[in-house]
Amino acid sequence: MRLSKYVSTHPDGRRTLLFNAAGEQIFVLEPELAELLARHAGQPDALRDVHPTFYEQLYRTQCLVPDDADEAEDLVARWKAQDDDPSHFGITINPTLACNLRCWYCYEEHRAGTVISDTTREAICRLIAARTADERLRSLNVSFFGGEPLLSFRKAVLPILQYAAEACAPRQVRLYSNFTTNGVLLTDEVLEALDALPLAKPATFQITFDGYRNWHDRVRYGANREPTYDVILAHVEAALRRGHEVFVRFNYTFDNILTFLDTLGDFNARHLADYGNLLSVKFEHVWQDGGTREAVQPYLVQVRDAFKADGYRVGTDNIHYRHVCYADTPQHLVINYNGDIFKCTARDFVSAQREGVLHDDGSVELNDVYERRMRLRYVNPACLACKILPICNGGCSQSKMEAAKQTECYRGMSEADKDAYIKARVEEIVKQTQQV
Ligand code: SF4
Ligand code: SF4
Repeated sequence: MRLSKYVSTHPDGRRTLLFNAAGEQIFVLEPELAELLARHAGQPDALRDVHPTFYEQLYRTQCLVPDDADEAEDLVARWKAQDDDPSHFGITINPTLACNLRCWYCYEEHRAGTVISDTTREAICRLIAARTADERLRSLNVSFFGGEPLLSFRKAVLPILQYAAEACAPRQVRLYSNFTTNGVLLTDEVLEALDALPLAKPATFQITFDGYRNWHDRVRYGANREPTYDVILAHVEAALRRGHEVFVRFNYTFDNILTFLDTLGDFNARHLADYGNLLSVKFEHVWQDGGTREAVQPYLVQVRDAFKADGYRVGTDNIHYRHVCYADTPQHLVINYNGDIFKCTARDFVSAQREGVLHDDGSVELNDVYERRMRLRYVNPACLACKILPICNGGCSQSKMEAAKQTECYRGMSEADKDAYIKARVEEIVKQTQQV
């Protein structure tokens, strides 16, 4: 046996933390055990006689592996099995690419007339019928993106969800739904219609603010420059009151970051912290605000801490872990209003870049772009040889497709960078554990 290449030790005061990146487990070693491990690291089999219970524990937790084990191969096989898990299927639908707002930084082109046709809507229902007929399916997620999906609420969103609910009922497949929406059209009427559906839990919403009222209304305004801050805030509260989970995203720039302290005042005036875990807030840097990320950091910490202090759940700051996106799995498709199929929602939905098509009969035809995406997920030799593969894997499949080189570290990390990454991950996990 040998020590797994994913195992590392970290002195922490008197004790030592033993970290196995493969299972993201941390074990606390008293000085005597740490010393024993250090002494036998090259030949851990000797531990079997010296300290059989310690040896047994290292073996059971896969900190020790057979000499000829291919740990990367095992890891990838496990990830692929998760990716292919037929008990879940998800679709994200863009019922339209049109939007009722005109945010300056939006990467979408707001093409009028880009509205789902009856034919595409019915094709989506046929796809849902086929997937829910699979006896292995246990949960179905039907999400909406855009454009602004609620512009097509009556024409597409509601009929598709009603159809999905009927299709899920016979075998009690759990149906989930979430919306990435600007929130302006999230009226009581819409919430009422969603609440009448037999979803496994109330639909969830991701809704964005771009600063306090005066800032937000300069960024997120309607076609006739109508302000939107107050209406969105009221809709967030209404959704929470009805038991919906809301992920509020705060888009910050160097100029607007401190104005979120006033937004906090508005949240507090409405007692939104009382909704506990139903509400979480997350800060996202507007990437077009280039060059100021470092400068804005102290202000970001100040604002984030103020939200935490007032009892809000603030999105994790953890960044040292393997990021898995729905785009990386074959069990999730993004369907555009015109039946084009994509995987990633962070790129333009143009037909030249599509990864497949949804046919009128509900069947899906995927192309070589999709095949390339799936192929690139776990093949980079630098990653397969890397000691931080389990907690890195180079990012999402989209970033891999766009990488200049496919055989070198996608992140340009040196061995020292990797050690620092492991240390940061250990610290994140310890901090998390202490918070629980
Ligand atoms: S850029 Fe990556 S993480 Fe973002 S949606 Fe696309 S695939 Fe997912
Ligand atoms: S991207 Fe670099 S650091 Fe990450 S797993 Fe691949 S080789 Fe390792």
